[in-house]
Amino acid sequence: MSTLTRKPLVSGNWKMHHTHLDAIAFVQKFAFSLTVEDHRRTEVSLHPPFTALRSVQTVLDADRIPVALGAQDVHWEDKGAYTGEISALMLAKLNVTYVIVGHSERRQHFGETDETVSKKVRAVLAAGMIPIVCVGEGEAERDAGATESLVVGQLRAALAGVAPEAVAKVVVAYEPIWAIGTGKAATPDDAQSVAAALRESVAVDHGTGSGNSIRIQYGGSVTADNLGEMLGLPDVDGALVGGASLDAEVFAGLVTGLRG
Ligand code: PEP
Repeated sequence: MSTLTRKPLVSGNWKMHHTHLDAIAFVQKFAFSLTVEDHRRTEVSLHPPFTALRSVQTVLDADRIPVALGAQDVHWEDKGAYTGEISALMLAKLNVTYVIVGHSERRQHFGETDETVSKKVRAVLAAGMIPIVCVGEGEAERDAGATESLVVGQLRAALAGVAPEAVAKVVVAYEPIWAIGTGKAATPDDAQSVAAALRESVAVDHGTGSGNSIRIQYGGSVTADNLGEMLGLPDVDGALVGGASLDAEVFAGLVTGLRG
């Protein structure tokens, strides 16, 4: 893959929203709004809660909808006495393609660390899926001018020891914590300069091929109003969307809004 072939990936992270019944209705309505051309231009992934994965998979398969199935988290072990956890093998069996790893809400509320993120990245890749590795700074770190060193450090830790061919497939989501759910997105200039720094660090650590291939999403208060501009940035290859992915019509509007 090169810069020319980095297809934008727009991912809807539903967090703890939607029952499996809501999810089925969402997918049917969402899919109806998108054309073959939309799918050709933009790859879309949906990340429902674990309880709705099987239902969403069934609808996507039955109706041959070219939308990728995604999960919001994973455990790094294949199996074992880890009450409440879900393994990468279990997700892979459901035809999950993308797994969000290290979302700031998991780092903040559930004790996720750079070390557990790294284990999860390896488990996801080993099971043949693609991690969406989330990195991002808080407001205080931004004000202290520490954004780039912090996010590059998070990414370095997440990808340490991963083979370059595998790194090339990884998706990174740059999500400033202060922008998540606040209605206050990063400026395109800031998103571009952080994305460029992340890409450069991958090139240095894992080779220019991986640096060129890795897709970098921006996340944090993405709407139909700012998505087009973000995707026009040279180093931003998609978006991780929370609030604006919860309603089928609104989320479809983000994708159809990218039509030329
Ligand atoms: C997110 O949590 O990943 C996110 C980007 O949320 P929102 O779009 O609501 O800011």
